[in-house]
Amino acid sequence: MRIAVCPGSFDPVTRGHLDIIERAAGMFDKVIVAVLNNSGKNSLFTIEERIELLKSTCAHIENVEVDTFPRLLIDYMKQKNASVIVKGLRAVSDFEYEMQMALMNRKLAPSIETVFLMTNSRYSFLSSSLVREVARLGGDITGMVPELIQEEIYKRFS
Ligand code: ADP
Repeated sequence: MRIAVCPGSFDPVTRGHLDIIERAAGMFDKVIVAVLNNSGKNSLFTIEERIELLKSTCAHIENVEVDTFPRLLIDYMKQKNASVIVKGLRAVSDFEYEMQMALMNRKLAPSIETVFLMTNSRYSFLSSSLVREVARLGGDITGMVPELIQEEIYKRFS
């Protein structure tokens, strides 16, 4: 069974994330969406809230599980028997960091492969931080995040 992990902050999950998760679910037997445990001062949702929101967002995808990982991603993956890391690539600006990360993970765990999926052009401009910023300033984020997430974001800022 091929198990893939989609790691990220997902603060909040956007339609760009969901597109990557859905496509990964079509490629692997099981996909674990793993929330990075890096709750900082600037986070909008707690780790527990992000997990719940991701579970609701991904409820329609049968082979997707949502979890969090506290330490090194590759240690978590070994524990879960996962062999592939799936990441989305939006622009050249993502590439440098993602390449460094993929090479470091390969060095630490040569049997784990990183796979990059090119962003859907409709969502290539989306990032969680920008969505947070626009919502904070009162802008309209319709279409950028799943509807239920949009409601939760507006509640936070109202
Ligand atoms: P962000 O960079 O938006 O804060 P995360 O750190 O949660 O998001 O990202 C998790 C993964 O999702 C990364 O691989 C990132 O490249 C990918 N990703 C984020 N937004 C998009 C998007 N709009 N299209 C494709 N991939 C994306």
